[in-house]
This record gives sequence, C-alpha cells and structure tokens, in this order.
Amino acid sequence: MATIIKAAPKVGMVSLGCPKALVDSERILTKLRADGYGLSPDYAGADVVLVNTCGFLDSAKEESLEAIGEAIAENGRVIVTGCMGNEADVIRARFPDVLAITGAHQYEAVVSAVHEAAPPTRGAFVDLVPEGGLKLTPRHYSYLKISEGCNHSCAFCIIPTLRGKLASRRIDAVLREAEKLVSAGTKELLVISQDTSAYGVDTRHEPREWQGRQVRAHMTDLARELGSLRTSDGIAPWVRLHYVYPYPHVDDVIPLMAEGYLTPYLDIPFQHAAPDVLKAMKRPANDAKVLERIRKWRSIAPDIAIRSSFVVGFPGETESDFEYLLNWLEEAQLDRVGAFRFEPVDGAQANDLPNPVPEEVKEERFQRIMAKTAAISAAKLGAKVGRSIPVIIDEIGDVDEDGSIGATGRSQADAPEIDGHVYLRDVAPTLKAGDVVLVNVEDADKHDLFGVVA
Ligand code: SF4
Repeated sequence: MATIIKAAPKVGMVSLGCPKALVDSERILTKLRADGYGLSPDYAGADVVLVNTCGFLDSAKEESLEAIGEAIAENGRVIVTGCMGNEADVIRARFPDVLAITGAHQYEAVVSAVHEAAPPTRGAFVDLVPEGGLKLTPRHYSYLKISEGCNHSCAFCIIPTLRGKLASRRIDAVLREAEKLVSAGTKELLVISQDTSAYGVDTRHEPREWQGRQVRAHMTDLARELGSLRTSDGIAPWVRLHYVYPYPHVDDVIPLMAEGYLTPYLDIPFQHAAPDVLKAMKRPANDAKVLERIRKWRSIAPDIAIRSSFVVGFPGETESDFEYLLNWLEEAQLDRVGAFRFEPVDGAQANDLPNPVPEEVKEERFQRIMAKTAAISAAKLGAKVGRSIPVIIDEIGDVDEDGSIGATGRSQADAPEIDGHVYLRDVAPTLKAGDVVLVNVEDADKHDLFGVVA
C-alpha cells in the first residue's frame, strides 16, 4: 500500500525592521523548516503568515501595522512577532483577528503559535534544513548576531526597554555559527548587536575553549578569530563590525584591519557632534577627541570606511549646534552617513526635554546635512577613480542586446542594504554571486562606483 504524504503546511513571512530582526526571522524560519513546514513566497499559498514587526520609531510601528493589515486582508491567518509584539493591545485593538502575538526573540512562542495555527505534518519525509540554517540574505553574506539588549540609556532610544540589558552570546557558540556559515558558502560576515563594542561586558568577557585555545568574549578576540576563518577554497571572509559604540577600546580593532583580519569598515553611530546635544542625548560628548581618534584610525588603516548615523532636530538643538555638526562632518570626512529627523518615540526620555525643534526646521536641517554628506561622499568616491579595488559580486545581470553582461557588487566600503554599489560592465559569463574580483574603477557618482574587472 502506498504511503500518502500529506502536503507540508506553508508559512509566509513578512520581515520588517533592522538586520537584527532579519536574523530573528531567519532563526524562526530555520526552526519551522526543521519542523517540516514549507515556505510560501506569496500570501495566497500560505497556510499562515508571520509578520515580524519593528517597534523602534512611531513611523516603523505604523509601517508594521500596515503590514499586519495587508496580511489580514490578503490571507487572514496572521501571527505577529518582533519588537511591536510588546504592544499587543495596540495590535489587538486594530486587528482583533490576529491569531497570536509574540514579542522579540520569543522563538519558542512564535513556533508553537504556528504549530497551533497550522499543525505540522511530521514523519520520515520531513524536509532537511540546509547547512548553516535557512537564510533570507543571499548565501554569500550573513548576519551574525553576538548579543541582545543594551546597557546604555540614550535619551531618544527605547531599545533597552524593548530588548532589556546586554546579554552576550558565548564566544564559542558565535564562532561555531560563523564557522558553519563560512563553510556553507558565506564570504562576508556582518557582525550585529545593539552595541557590538560592549560584547562580553555582561559575562566579564568569559573565555571559552575554541580550537584548543581560550578565547575571550571580547570584540577584539572575536574580530581576530572571525578573520582567521577560511572558506573551503582557503579564502578569508570579509568581516564587518556594525553598531559599534564609540568606546575608547574601539581603537584596538583598527590594527586588525591593517593586518587583514577585519574589513576596513566601521559602522559607528555618532548621532551628533555638538557637546550640548550629545549631553542631552546621554551620549559620549568629547567630539574633539573623536576627530583625533578618526585621524589616528586613518593613519593605521588608510582605507578605512567609516559609516555613521546622525539625528537632526533633537530637542534643544540650536542653529549653532547644527552648524557645529556640519563643520565637524567637514573635518571628519566620513564615508557613509545616514541622517534621521528626530522623532519622539513612545516611552523615550527625550520626549520630556524642552525646546522641541519645529518640523520645518528639522526638515531644512535634514536637507542641509544630506547635501553636505552627499558632497563629501562624491569627493571620496571620485578619488577612487583610476584605482583597483576588491569587489564582492552580489548579482549578475541579464545578457544585453549586444551580448554583454553587467554585474552589481560592493567594495569593502559598502555594507549590503545600507551603503552604495559598484556597477560592473562586460563581466565574464563565469562570474557568480559571492566571487571577489579586482575592479578598475572608471567612474563615480554621489553614492556608487562604476568599473570593469581588472
Ligand atoms: S547605544 Fe544604541 S541601543 Fe543602546 S540605548 Fe543608545 S541608541 Fe539605544
């Protein structure tokens, strides 16, 4: 008698928010896949839809609510998870039909809610999880989450309330995950957390055994070990550090860039430069020292690309504070800058500060900072024209009418999804995503480079 295998239930996933939330989505899907679920790329084919929400800013909350509404309208069977899950009342008031609501990192709870909504078909024919887990990012780059939560209390931020105090993962567990990812094809590791430079502070940098040695849970040790991993072809992966808080010990990782362990890239959100604004934000407020440090970093690792983000229109920010920031940016010559107009977030201390900046002033300052940083970026990219630089390939284009093929990649100065691209012309048909090639840069604009494989 034939064995009838019931079709596996399918899960749809809408993943909103930051890369950290994306890692959560990957973990949830990996577990569901291990439990025998299939994935549906659209609403129609899904037995249940998971919406992984972001609750950081009010605008992100609104986007999350819209996504939940769309999933309800299109499919009707919806489970909500992620940061906004902590505000179950708001979600229930608007969408009483959601099947379940769980908060950020409640993997077990969200998986059991899926089991309840669409029971799994178990048996000998359960799908296998690909090595390295199931990934929403392309196979050649992977996010590596090293900790949760944050011990700071920046006035504009509610992450510590949402995610709690810093909780670092064991260093051996992080390295084992990274090793698996690299042997499964990852060529670029993106280290993420709420505060990467604080890694291990909560565990007193507890050492663990890794490959016969004791390795501390510390950003510097982590960076060195990640940079020592090798793909099956013996190639070192690119390793980027994201969300680095400007502690003095960040200086210690810069030599690792010069020595080739780390990609010369640092994502370090400074948020502002004017001392009074930084103080009001409850951020480290010695801007002159920061400029000095940036100079030193560049003398050690000349190609270092520094990405940062800034908030404009913070309560009490005066025109002269803002001009101070623009002048500071002129000095600092940062490579990549993201700017945000201050937005009061429910529950943030900054909401009680006096002297809110009017919306039209915020907007005007936002336009000015964007123009300033675009000009710096254009000049810095222009200086790369004529150089040969390594580029990781993300995507190969279609064959053009004249038979040529283009490709899109990124230089070491470009993290995926947030920075620029390198557009290549006339690539070989054998080129594939994840390859790292040397590229002659032929042209540049404000954000991107254009070139040809050397
Ligand atoms: S360091 Fe980052 S996550 Fe922590 S409170 Fe400040 S802004 Fe929020």
